Amino acid sequence: MKLSVVSGGYTRFFIPDTCEALKYFANLGYQAIDLSLDGPYEKATKETGFEYTKQIQKTAKECNLLLYQAHAPASTDPNNQDIIKAISRSIEVCGFLGIENLVVHTIPTETKEEAIPVNVAYFSQFIPLLEKTGVNFCIENLGNFNDIHHYFKTADALNELVDNFNHKNFKICWDTGHGNLTNLDQYENVTKIGSRLGCVHVHDNYYPIFVPGEQYAFDGHNFPLFGNINFDAFIQALIDIGYKGTFNLETDTPNRRGHRDFVYKGEVTLKLKPIPFEIREKSDELLFTIGKYMLQRYNLWEE
Ligand SMILES: [Zn+2]
Repeated sequence: MKLSVVSGGYTRFFIPDTCEALKYFANLGYQAIDLSLDGPYEKATKETGFEYTKQIQKTAKECNLLLYQAHAPASTDPNNQDIIKAISRSIEVCGFLGIENLVVHTIPTETKEEAIPVNVAYFSQFIPLLEKTGVNFCIENLGNFNDIHHYFKTADALNELVDNFNHKNFKICWDTGHGNLTNLDQYENVTKIGSRLGCVHVHDNYYPIFVPGEQYAFDGHNFPLFGNINFDAFIQALIDIGYKGTFNLETDTPNRRGHRDFVYKGEVTLKLKPIPFEIREKSDELLFTIGKYMLQRYNLWEE
């Protein structure tokens, strides 16, 4: 199984140019990339043609990196035309680059009854473009335990939505951290998803942490094995369903820390955030080592 990493945590903060970022990841030893097409930092989604997109293609080829999956832009408003256009553009970019799987977020709804019809209507508008390009939508599990507006947190709910389309271009992305925020059994959920699983987001967090008086759930996107997700359960599930995708790390440590602001002499003080690139580089070496170790322990590592 190829080891992959998301590009956005880096292109947003440290290496603005995606092609430079790809060289950086290849140099660390990664074999595949999850291309972030969800932010203003990605030139491929901003251009009208495919000039920069071609450079990404060339760099990936030179670095022997598989472009297997991508992040689409997302909105909580189904009528946001800018996001609809941006999602269409990201499908076209994926089609051009041969990226099989584009991860999308569901629209939150006031009631559970609206969840399926609202999301079926929303995603259906993209079907002609998915068919034309051959790109799959992978619908991701979102929301923590007390979030009543995100209905698609579990394998059962995701399966219900995807089965509604009954279409080869609709699959699921299982996010280990989001699953943990709902305190779900990773093995049970991933095996229920089964052949519908197109790709994964691997990261860690601590849940449940019960602070007296409040229940705390924070989507920290920590390095795997730095939280309390049972990754034996997760990897065994990937093996048992015959998953053929990449092992894709979607970490954001230590940028996403969720701390309260410190106001000193009238000003918010953030001297320690973001971390300097020298520290990030060291942490990237560690992240790669952890990912490789996890795959090696299950004889999944590919040289
Ligand atoms: Zn995710």
